[in-house]
Amino acid sequence: MTRQPGILDLIGNTPLIHLREASELTGCHIYGKAEFMNPGGSVKDRTALGIIRAAEAAGELRPGGVIVEGTAGNTGIGLTLVANALGYQSVIVMPQTASQEKIDQLEMLGADLILVPNAPYSSHQHYIHTAQSVAEGRAHSEPNGAAWARQFGNPANRQIHYDTTGPEIWEQTGGKVDGFICAVGTGGTLAGVADALRERKPAVKIGLADPMGSALYSHFNGGALQAEGNSITEGIGVSFVPGNLDGVEVDFSCQVDDDTALPCVFDLLKHEGISVGGSSGINIAGAIAMAKELGPGHTIITILCDAGSRYHSKLFNPEFLMRHKLPFPEWMAS
Ligand code: PMP
Repeated sequence: MTRQPGILDLIGNTPLIHLREASELTGCHIYGKAEFMNPGGSVKDRTALGIIRAAEAAGELRPGGVIVEGTAGNTGIGLTLVANALGYQSVIVMPQTASQEKIDQLEMLGADLILVPNAPYSSHQHYIHTAQSVAEGRAHSEPNGAAWARQFGNPANRQIHYDTTGPEIWEQTGGKVDGFICAVGTGGTLAGVADALRERKPAVKIGLADPMGSALYSHFNGGALQAEGNSITEGIGVSFVPGNLDGVEVDFSCQVDDDTALPCVFDLLKHEGISVGGSSGINIAGAIAMAKELGPGHTIITILCDAGSRYHSKLFNPEFLMRHKLPFPEWMAS
């Protein structure tokens, strides 16, 4: 028998899926990179592997050591999966408001889970600051080392997208890519893919799709860090400029509200059989806006970050949607 892959070999090399309705609506060729097909179910498996491999190379993690991270959930799932496969432990700090499905998944994987209040970044209780202090404490007590993954500033995050996601998109489109757009959590995906594509095709247009409540749209349109409104999407939207976005310039940016993003999620599921979470809805709406700006005939790529099953109790729950005054389709109510 030929050598078969191990679980970590299955991270990356995700397919590009043709998004039919978005393409028909705009006359463009819009594709979503199916990151929900990674073994841990999200784009963050790539980041997790990149960060753990970099920590090993730097001598910060030795067999049996601990990887610590603050996360909206997906990075924690990716890190714990990679940690389990390689013989490390994980400590995951998460806001209490993260979806129950992500909490369940982390418990199943055996992460040491710390839930914190959904505090603003300026508060010491914010999950990022909590993770940093937990990591610093554990670094003194763990004989095999404790590393803080610090995905927002860790260059290994941007690097893995430069090394894998970007080149995959280039190969899969045969270089016929006119635009790439996605939302930002840590900025690793946007920055790494932008670096890789611009190096191969300087004219490629890079776009930011920003949810409401995030300050990046105003940052890229005048410099101020200002946020308005809010969003129920998880894993995206920031009130500061993450280190991983250093030096990144965007050619196009748009703000997408939940009322626009959620119908993209529902239609994709019902009309095309593709199940995605809220951040993918922001991304698809962003790709449609970019397509309208570029005009018909262009090829635009976005990211399908994770699957709808990760948000069943929220995005696909009419009571939750009603409580948050969000739209839901008739088929969901019946
Ligand atoms: N969507 C989801 C669901 C996520 O969990 C994340 C990661 N925080 C992103 C999008 C954004 O990816 P990145 O961190 O590379 O900006």
